[in-house]
This record gives sequence, C-alpha cells and structure tokens, in this order.
Amino acid sequence: RVCVVGSINMDLTVTTQVMPQQGETVLGDDFATYPGGKGANQAVAAARLGAEVHIIGALGEDVFGKTLYDHLKQESVLLDGIKKIADTPTGVASIILSENDNRIIVAPGANVQVTPELVEAKRDIIKSSNIVLLQLEIPIKSVVKTVEIANAYGVPVIVNPAPYQQLPVSVVNGATFLTPNEIEAAAMTKVAAMDLQQKLIVTKGSAGVAFYRNGKEELVPAFTVNAKDTTGAGDTFNGALAVALANGRELADAVLFANGAAALSVTKIGAQAGMPSMTEVEDFLKT
Ligand code: ADP
Repeated sequence: RVCVVGSINMDLTVTTQVMPQQGETVLGDDFATYPGGKGANQAVAAARLGAEVHIIGALGEDVFGKTLYDHLKQESVLLDGIKKIADTPTGVASIILSENDNRIIVAPGANVQVTPELVEAKRDIIKSSNIVLLQLEIPIKSVVKTVEIANAYGVPVIVNPAPYQQLPVSVVNGATFLTPNEIEAAAMTKVAAMDLQQKLIVTKGSAGVAFYRNGKEELVPAFTVNAKDTTGAGDTFNGALAVALANGRELADAVLFANGAAALSVTKIGAQAGMPSMTEVEDFLKT
C-alpha cells in the first residue's frame, strides 16, 4: 500500500514552430491536454504496477478537476484522500513546445490547498500505508507535516525533491530516502547533513542511478532503450521505487526494478503514456 501526498495538474500543451515574442501573437500547430502533476504522475506509475495507491491532494470544482478525478479513478488510484475545493481552479501547467524550446508556467491553484490541516485530516491513510511518497509541488509545510506523521507510525518516506527547493532539516532527517536527479543533487550537497549520503538515490537520466551501500557509491547503469520522451521518467522511477520497497524488496533490487520501469517509460511519448505494468517490467528485466 502506497500513499502519495502531492500535486495534481492538467498539462495544457500547445505545439508551435515559432515562439511568440513579448506582446506578439503567433499561430501555433496543435493543442492537447494531458493529466500531470508530479504527485498524480507518481501515483499512476505506482498503480500501474499493481500497488494499492492512495493520493492525498486537492482539485478545484471545475472541468479539469472532474476530468482529473475520473482519470485517476480509471487508473485505479484510490481517491479518499482528495479534497475538492470550491472557487479555486485546479492546478494547470501551461506549456508551449517548439522543436528546440519549451516554456512552462505552472499555476498551482488547488494544489496550494494541500495544507498541513488536510494532511492531518487524512492521517489514517498515511498510518495504514507501507510507504509514503512526496514531491515538492505542494506547500513545504505540508511536506514537513507528512514526514512527521509517517515517522510517528514508522512508515518509510521517499522524498523526491522536485522541483528543487531547500529542504527543512526535519524533512532531510525524517526521510528514509531522497531521490533527486543530478541537478537537484548538486543543489543538495550544499546542505549536506551527516547521514545524508546513505539516504540518497540519485537519478542520472541515461547514465542510470547512483545509490549508497555500506558507505560506498554504487552506479546502476541505465538500460539501453529507444528513448522517445523522457518526460515523466523521474516520476515513473519514484512510483516504481515506492512499489518495490512496499513489496519488501531490498534497496539494490528496488533500484534495479525502478531503473527498468523508468527505462520502459521513456520509450513512449507522454509522461503517463509509457508507464509500464508489473508484467511489462518483469518481462523486460528477464531479457
Ligand atoms: P528526471 O526525469 O526527474 O529528470 P532522470 O532524467 O534522472 O529524472 O531520469 C530518471 C530515471 O529514468 C533514470 O535514473 C533512468 O533510470 C531512467 N531514464 C531516464 N532517461 C533514460 C534513457 N534515455 N534511457 C534509459 N533510462 C532512462
């Protein structure tokens, strides 16, 4: 049983040949909406792998909120941790994609309402989980609160420090694992705590994953795949890592599993589209 506490967004994506300059309007190509938000992405990744997944999060009472709610339900994510907030828009990411550039503005909307009070109200979900998975697209106070509750019940916590901001000491100390990508890890070493290293699982894109065993760094190379879209690779990695650890796998084994799941996810376009099932990962790891 996995509990994700995090963001839920609708990604609004326009593709264009030309980026508009300041004050300019251009005609673009296509428009599409994709379910997103790191919290929701990681919850979907974990649910596809067959885990019982709950998400604690917030949605507006608008069209996107309804669509995302139905989408998560269809992905078998359990929604008893969702709060619907009136008069607040659902979180959106407004994305402009051209061939060699992308520009993104996130309007967090309802995600700001994932408050410590909401987390507190849902503490039973955390208590009855085997692992908790956090990212930083909700208020940091709520991350602190979640870690505190999980620690109180001895439930392990994975903190994916993305998008990066400096972590409160209580979060670093209370986390069981921290899963930065290389850029986030570089920012983190500046705040290095004593036993930080032991908790680090650093994803390095096509270079694989580094983690520590008995004080020694181990590098697990990435699988060679035909990469089409690496958006959501980190989210798949985190969701899969949570499932593997919740299923009782050893760390090294869990990292290998997540590395395989993330490799499969980059072979398809779209953050959630390529997230694999348990059978797909097992078959892939056998070959
Ligand atoms: P993020 O998406 O958060 O920046 P990374 O780019 O580090 O995270 O990717 C997360 C994980 O996804 C990597 O550690 C690796 O397991 C897998 N991955 C990413 N890119 C590739 C790739 N080109 N080929 C194979 N695996 C990949």
